[in-house]
Amino acid sequence: MTDYVVEAPAIPTLPVKGSDARFPVRRIYCVGRNYAAHAVEMGGDPDKEPPFFFMKNPNNILDSGKTFPYPPRTSDLHFEIELVVALGKGGSDIPVDQALDYIYGYAVGIDMTRRDLQSEAKDMRRPWEVSKAFELSAPCSEIVPAAQIGHPTDGAIWLDVDGARRQTGDLNQLIWKVPEIIAHLSALFELAPGDLIMTGTPSGVGAVQKGETMHGHVAGVGDIQTPVA
Ligand code: MN
Repeated sequence: MTDYVVEAPAIPTLPVKGSDARFPVRRIYCVGRNYAAHAVEMGGDPDKEPPFFFMKNPNNILDSGKTFPYPPRTSDLHFEIELVVALGKGGSDIPVDQALDYIYGYAVGIDMTRRDLQSEAKDMRRPWEVSKAFELSAPCSEIVPAAQIGHPTDGAIWLDVDGARRQTGDLNQLIWKVPEIIAHLSALFELAPGDLIMTGTPSGVGAVQKGETMHGHVAGVGDIQTPVA
């Protein structure tokens, strides 16, 4: 047993469909602007520029069904519904045609964003952590093993707030497909089992208020329910 001089942090985990064992979360990578219509709504170019990445903290995970506390220092809290990829194997410089072999499963996540702080960071050319990597900013569903569902490449992705449809898209609109994302990311970082990749959000991002409930869905993967309090 290792002794620690302060309390050692717990490993963040997610439930796995059909298993009592849990998925340990090592890192959370996120892809920016990966649906053309969302790139346009954020003031970007829909043409296929190289993907860019940012990160959240592993302990920003929030299980589906748990209440998301409205965070401090923002008055423009946005939802971004995303397909989440969970890696079962790691490596560097992973070729596109082998990338699916590294995937353990998939989940439905919401990339919660303090949009006002992100806009300020962009304007001042500052980093994004305060807008993206804050407490419980990564609500995520259970992970569904690829062994059960295969590798989804098309199908609806949407998010409702209190029953009203706010975001809609289709996985086939991803600018950078999942294998390409893994190839790009693994050229920049050494990927490992336990890594999650949030693959980007379709258009329709917007603000959510205290007292509202977000319901996200990815066809073939599952659902997420997140009340905001
Ligand atoms: Mn996002």
